[in-house]
Amino acid sequence: MAAELHQTIFMAKQERHKNLFLNYKNLSMFPVELLKDEGLQFLERLYMKRNSLTTLPDNLAQKLPNLIELYLHSNNIVIIPEAIGNLARLQSLDLSNNALQLLCPEIGRLRSLRHLRLSNNQLKCLPPEIGDLQDLETLDVAVNQLASLPERLHRCPSLQNLTADHNLLSHVPRQLCWLRRLNQLSMAANRLTFLPLDLGRSRELQFVFVDNNVNLKGLPSYLYNKVIGCSGCGVSSFVAERDMGEALGEALAGLPAEVKVIGSQADNVVPLEELALRTLHRLYHRRPAGLSLPPPISLPKSLLDLLQFPLGHCHRCSQAMFTTVYPKLFPLRDTALAGVHRRTTVSFVAYCCSSHCLRTFNLQG
Ligand SMILES: [Zn+2]
Repeated sequence: MAAELHQTIFMAKQERHKNLFLNYKNLSMFPVELLKDEGLQFLERLYMKRNSLTTLPDNLAQKLPNLIELYLHSNNIVIIPEAIGNLARLQSLDLSNNALQLLCPEIGRLRSLRHLRLSNNQLKCLPPEIGDLQDLETLDVAVNQLASLPERLHRCPSLQNLTADHNLLSHVPRQLCWLRRLNQLSMAANRLTFLPLDLGRSRELQFVFVDNNVNLKGLPSYLYNKVIGCSGCGVSSFVAERDMGEALGEALAGLPAEVKVIGSQADNVVPLEELALRTLHRLYHRRPAGLSLPPPISLPKSLLDLLQFPLGHCHRCSQAMFTTVYPKLFPLRDTALAGVHRRTTVSFVAYCCSSHCLRTFNLQG
């Protein structure tokens, strides 16, 4: 085996190969032949899945400076060295099915990285520096022990596919709703209890999988007409038999705590605080670009932040909402999606700005 390995690497060096296949070689150490002399300067793709590696060499970037893809699926890698950040051309890194407990912040220096696969490890957190990966399109962190995702992920403008199934996530950072290119979000089998109201507002987001989050109540109605996986979430199937008020109460349990619901169908007046914020919001968004608000409207930062990113928008009239929403529940079996998904235990919750919009909002219309 050793002689065969030596020969393979010797040939690759001699003939300036761009691809090297070292899968299933029973390697417990990174082959020294790859790192001798000036290394393999021409190598672009290295395949080393299903070996027994436990770490990577410090001088990897020095000896294999032109690596574009590195496949290390199914080894026993516990730690990757900080020097990984020097692989300036690396676009694809697969570390799935290893024994990683920590990921070094230097991963954020891989500025060419487009696909990062970390599923089936033992990660408890991700470094916020992942948010520095401007070209990142795929991030797979399924089957780890993550309790949260870094909020800075929203700084990855190219992210299209985020998979975080089978973790311990209790919430989806609201900032992820701002990822304009996100097409698929998969968070099945976590501990989600609610989803951000804005989730699905982006047209690009077409696939949302939140199956097996047993305490998840309802779904933002922006997800209506998108492909959703949601068995094991949502309000109970007895909704129709019970009075609507009780069902609403159950749906509301899934709303973020900061949403102060005081609206009901009987309310005709929107609270003063909400009206003030909506008025300021209109003013703030009509002003010429680049101008700050005139002195009478200098606001504390918390209010400015709220103005910038409302809790949601009325599903009927698109009015921004800040402190109050009027929720309306649509059991899935009453919608067009019932036939598509054959799951009837889920309800869509629409959010309206006023009792008027609440009365007139209809999913079919
Ligand atoms: Zn409205």
